[in-house]
Amino acid sequence: MSERFDVVVIGAGPGGYPAAIRAAQNKLKVACVDEWRNLDGSYAYGGTCLNAGCIPSKALLESSELYVRAKEEFAVHGIGVGTVTLDLAAMQKRRASIVKTMTGGIAALFKANGVVGIPGHGRLEPGNKVTVTGADGGRRTLEAEHVVLASGSVPVRLPAVPHDGKVIVDSWTALEFDAVPPRLGVIGAGVIGLELGSVWRRLGSQVTILEAVEQFLPMADQAVAKEALRQFKKQGLEVKLGAKVARATVTGGAVGVTYGGAAGEHTLEVDKLVVAVGRRPFTSGLLAEGTGVGIDARGFIEVDEHCRTAAPKVWAVGDVVRGPMLAHKGKEEGVMVADLIAGLYGEVNYRAIPSVIYTAPEIAWVGQTEEQVKAGGRPYKVGTFPFAASGRARAMEAGAGMAKVISARDDDEILGVHVIGPMAGELIAEAVLAMEYSASTEDLQRTMHAHPTLSEAIHEAALAADKRAIDSINR
Ligand code: FAD
Ligand code: AMP
Repeated sequence: MSERFDVVVIGAGPGGYPAAIRAAQNKLKVACVDEWRNLDGSYAYGGTCLNAGCIPSKALLESSELYVRAKEEFAVHGIGVGTVTLDLAAMQKRRASIVKTMTGGIAALFKANGVVGIPGHGRLEPGNKVTVTGADGGRRTLEAEHVVLASGSVPVRLPAVPHDGKVIVDSWTALEFDAVPPRLGVIGAGVIGLELGSVWRRLGSQVTILEAVEQFLPMADQAVAKEALRQFKKQGLEVKLGAKVARATVTGGAVGVTYGGAAGEHTLEVDKLVVAVGRRPFTSGLLAEGTGVGIDARGFIEVDEHCRTAAPKVWAVGDVVRGPMLAHKGKEEGVMVADLIAGLYGEVNYRAIPSVIYTAPEIAWVGQTEEQVKAGGRPYKVGTFPFAASGRARAMEAGAGMAKVISARDDDEILGVHVIGPMAGELIAEAVLAMEYSASTEDLQRTMHAHPTLSEAIHEAALAADKRAIDSINR
């Protein structure tokens, strides 16, 4: 016997679960199917983000940062705490408990909103039917008016770097190490590699990050990237650029990594190796023959700007479709689709998606980099403000970094805002809102910011774009 729903969502990560909740808020009958299982075999909602990505990484980044600050910074404040010790088991227990609370929160939200959560593997059949296979192999069929595919992504693997789950691992395992590896290698200096490298460096590992590309953080504004590299090196994080890993071999509990640089091949020996070379869309077992859903050459489900696939009333959102693989991008797509299904207005502004790297200092930006603006040929102006000149940042012992505003010379449009410094991920929200509302640089300049706050850095950077900064020298 099949059950009928207005909307069936496959995947309960940050793309799928908001789609399900919003659809239910729109008075539709909704089911959300998810197959995520944790290492103990239990099902959990929340996808990569809650179980193995955003949330556990931020829990460990916070704990490890506190550990370093207690060890290295408290004395500067005149606080003596004796010998600071690390209880990794307790730190990991906290991380696991945060994840459990958050994933349990989604189950509670489903219940409160009337979403039927179904653990198991979902497969789209022609005619908008979804078959769900449970843990015991039992099957049920759901009939849906609309289907939302939100199956997410999985880590990319390098064929010559075979994972064994113990010594050569992916980002998920690297979040769950039960001992600090004395020597840690990370392949890939992207967001995930830098965050994981930071965690274990702070907890005592000697960390080497191997990055194939010569340029550091090519997607970021290069003034920010340069400052970030300088800060990371100062912290003892070794980043080798132009170091493309060719192969890795495990011998006696250690791993030899061979990488090529300008001066030929080199070898690095480490105790654990994390492969963080990006993620790929995940559609394994998702689509039966003849659904009409298209997949592009890179494995992404093809969609239009409203996340419609080629099949009628089948939508796809999140990491499994084009665009940056970010939780908030998936969330906004999920909400948009649920509103469009209900006949409401829905749109995602792909030009105002914030990016955040949760290192110390944090890095965040929205809009175009100076390099992109320059390449576009539109005359522009730039204002920067160093956190060294911010009273609040100084009080926080966090004077490294800067805020940077890039604006059009012709009509004052804000083209990009870049921050490296304390709480950059929070500060960038103001810039996203400004761009969303098409605020001009002058609007930012005329907006009052509380003193002393970190947000003044964005205010001052906007003023500096017209050489009208008050708290720093205009250049
Ligand atoms: P996912 O979160 O991958 O969820 C997909 C879900 O669908 C999974 O639960 C999966 O089991 C399920 N599924 C797949 N196929 C089926 C099927 N056939 N049937 C049933 N269920 C299925 N992003 C940020 O924005 N900020 C961060 O700080 C951040 N940190 C990260 C840190 C790490 C270490 C990693 C790995 C990622 C991080 N990300 C971060 C990226 C973020 O996790 C993803 O962008 C986000 O999870 C994508 O959401 P999604 O819903 O598209 O997919
Ligand atoms: P991201 O896609 O942001 O998660 O970053 C992944 C990073 O891994 C990119 O900067 C890639 O250049 C890098 N990368 C991919 N393959 C290799 C490799 N074989 N050796 C070293 N770095 C790699």
